[in-house]
Amino acid sequence: MSGDGNVDSTTSGDGADDGADDGADDGADDDDDGESIVDMGGPVPRRVISVWSRPVLIVQKYGGTSVGSIERMKNVAARCLATQRQGHHVAVVVSAMSGETNRLLKLASEIQDDPNDREVDVIVSTGEQVSVGLVALAIRAAGGKARSFLGHQVKIVTDSAFSRARILSIDARPLQDAFAAGEIAVIAGFQGIDERGSITTLGRGGSDTTGVAIAAALQADVCEIYTDVDGVYTTDPNIVPTARKVDRISYEEMLELASLGAKVLQIRSVELGMKYGVKIHVRSSFSDAQGTWVVPEEVAMEKVVVSGVTVAKDEAKITVEDLPDQPGIVAKLFGPLADANISVDMIVQNQSFDGTTDLTFTVPKGDRKRACDILQTKVPELVGANTEKLVFDDEICKVSVVGVGMRSHAGVAKTMFELLSAESINIQLISTSEIKISCVIARKYAELAVRALHEGFGLSLPPAERTGL
Ligand code: ADP
Ligand code: ASP
Ligand code: MG
Repeated sequence: MSGDGNVDSTTSGDGADDGADDGADDGADDDDDGESIVDMGGPVPRRVISVWSRPVLIVQKYGGTSVGSIERMKNVAARCLATQRQGHHVAVVVSAMSGETNRLLKLASEIQDDPNDREVDVIVSTGEQVSVGLVALAIRAAGGKARSFLGHQVKIVTDSAFSRARILSIDARPLQDAFAAGEIAVIAGFQGIDERGSITTLGRGGSDTTGVAIAAALQADVCEIYTDVDGVYTTDPNIVPTARKVDRISYEEMLELASLGAKVLQIRSVELGMKYGVKIHVRSSFSDAQGTWVVPEEVAMEKVVVSGVTVAKDEAKITVEDLPDQPGIVAKLFGPLADANISVDMIVQNQSFDGTTDLTFTVPKGDRKRACDILQTKVPELVGANTEKLVFDDEICKVSVVGVGMRSHAGVAKTMFELLSAESINIQLISTSEIKISCVIARKYAELAVRALHEGFGLSLPPAERTGL
């Protein structure tokens, strides 16, 4: 049990107290009728408060590295069983073994290169099917009881956006049946079915979202995300070895970090966590150390101006030159891209002096070619018959600094620009929100920029020792 009221599956004892505290925090229940189908798209349900009458319920999600070999699956089985022996109900969500999803995607791409295809989801979802079977076997081999579930067996219903589907609802009843039978429920991450029964997948890193969604549907006390690092760090510890683990981070900051490249949690999982009040504990599957709790914002968090640095290398930049500076032109340009489900991120339009203007925007790198082809076909009058007004650059990255403390501190942007300039890194695009500043720069400077920003904002030091900006 951690001293802060959060349930910790590595220690035994007073879990029920914690559950009761959690319940009280979340308000009285007026609807404890055993409802187990949660509509993930609808309003936030009131939390069911029957914590005194049920064991603590823990969802544990294990990522690809954590189930990357049979030995590691045995380790997962041992952890789940240890948690169950503390008297808790355990639902385990597992990813495909590391490298497997990439392997499956590559196989599909050898036949056709559109990943947004129904059949590609049929292929890539199989990695998780192998994992759930193996983990369930490993639990049984270690003396426990386990039952595996694929997405459709818990009715993880999603929309039909293949390769990036969103969960609409989950039927938790089969899991509750498993708990009643003393079993550990082992659930395939990353996959669901749409309303027509087609298999869908939730986007890269989507098992995090399955984990949090299952936790919301079960009204679990905690969703533990087990991965290959000890928690959420001030930046990717694989780029900057002096990065520091953050003990607690707000949903808002985590949402920004995730959307700006910190792949430790998928964005949608943080959104769901925030919406349904799921306590998320990111931690290592190789140790018992406390990891990072993702929680509602706390006053102390605002004292930290910059809490993290990220880099995203999965975007490309497109510029359309000499666009007529007239109403309706931008809508005409982005309309066909939206129709093709291509999401545009940063958009910068220059001041017009001679009636024409240049417009630059970024799209996911995998969609860049399609975006250019669509513009050429649909709006040749804007991009030129031979696309002579269309310029693209795939060799970019986006570095960002994030922190809720930025709301009340001026000067973060200035410091960021100075730190990049000191490394002679040219800034191509800038975008800001209340709690983040992002700069697009040449990809070859990605690591250099992350290190410079991490050092420059003092993130290797404990928060209390960081001075100024
Ligand atoms: P899993 O397979 O367990 O889902 P991922 O590879 O998806 O794991 O996510 C964990 C990885 O995220 C780490 O190995 C690390 O390289 C990367 N990462 C990027 N930014 C951060 C950060 N700020 N804190 C922790 N890890 C980060
Ligand atoms: N196996 C999927 C991926 O590699 C989902 C996940 O691991 O979260 O993206
Ligand atoms: Mg992941």
